[in-house]
Amino acid sequence: MRTTRAYAAFDEANPLGPFEFERREVRDYDVQIETLYCGVCHTDIHQVRNEWGASKYPMVPGHEIVGRVVRTGGQVTKFRVGDLAGIGCFVDSCRTCPSCLEGLEQYCEVHNVGTYNSVELDGKTPTYGGYSSQIIVDEKYTLKVPENLELARVAPLLCAGITTYSPLMHWKVGKGHRLAVVGLGGLGHMAVKIGAALGADVTVLSTSPGKEEDARSLGAHNFAVTRDPAALKNLRSSFDFILDTVSAPHDYNMYLNLLKRDGTMILVGAPPEPTPVAGFSLIARRKRLVGSMIGGIRETQEMLDFCAAHNIMADVEVIPMDYINEAYERVLKSDVKYRFVIDMASL
Ligand code: NAP
Ligand code: ZN
Ligand code: ZN
Repeated sequence: MRTTRAYAAFDEANPLGPFEFERREVRDYDVQIETLYCGVCHTDIHQVRNEWGASKYPMVPGHEIVGRVVRTGGQVTKFRVGDLAGIGCFVDSCRTCPSCLEGLEQYCEVHNVGTYNSVELDGKTPTYGGYSSQIIVDEKYTLKVPENLELARVAPLLCAGITTYSPLMHWKVGKGHRLAVVGLGGLGHMAVKIGAALGADVTVLSTSPGKEEDARSLGAHNFAVTRDPAALKNLRSSFDFILDTVSAPHDYNMYLNLLKRDGTMILVGAPPEPTPVAGFSLIARRKRLVGSMIGGIRETQEMLDFCAAHNIMADVEVIPMDYINEAYERVLKSDVKYRFVIDMASL
């Protein structure tokens, strides 16, 4: 019953293919979830291709998981069989360090257990993600999924949603702020929706001229193509916040110049190579360059409830499991509107 069907990467160079493995026994506080949908995050590609240099194989990616509870451990109180459940980027953490105690488990100072390409708290059992038929996770690290949303469109909230929601909340972005979102991909399109719902004036800064109409229908008020230096000149000193979701190396200085005095540029995109930042890009107009990583369990639940209340879901292309290698190639060409989501029934 714990035998799990999946798709895995077996090394950094070859396509993903079918794989089978055993999940752990359901423990007292565990829920066993039949996977219904799993989003395809650019992080999956970085990790499958070992671009961050810490990949272990076989790797079953996937950390935007929505499914239904099929079994619960004896001590579980949060879920019943038949409930919807969501799993994001991590499935456990030490639970006792200051970050865990503050509900910021993503910054666990001991061991944040990634949903895949990680090991459990025992330090040795590998974790396998959502490109699989089922997953078994402690209820504490499992999210309640609102019943009123479309499930395929909810899956990307578990990473793209929380990764953009968390810094917008942390920096209190809202009415009266001009927010630029750099990169209109999976994260970027969620940032536009959430930023607009929070009342900010949202501009999309994109390398793709063809995305303007979409950007506006997603809720953006303005759009500029970053390949056109003239358009950017007009935007100098105009933003309170810039949320940078770009996955590939690019020049941060160019964007820092678009901030107002005391403006903040927030990095969530994680290009593999470092980028030089000129001192003057920050010194002039007393600017800040900061980062942010996903969000804690409490905040992820808050984000799901916020999205349910505002009817915010990802724009998705639902794909069968065996389309995954082609999907990766299309993500790399910024050719997805705006998140691929795997229908796990196709596995
Ligand atoms: P994605 O769907 O591929 O979107 C990235 C977007 O960046 C593209 O759609 C494209 O938008 C823009 N872009 C791509 N190459 C570019 C280049 N060379 N120069 C400028 N812009 C470029 O990826 P995603 O899933 O949203 O993930 C984005 C990044 O965030 C990845 O690095 C991922 O690993 C990281 N991430 C971080 C966290 C975190 O906790 N901080 C969580 C999840 C993901 P345009 O066509 O509009 O230019
Ligand atoms: Zn992700
Ligand atoms: Zn901890």
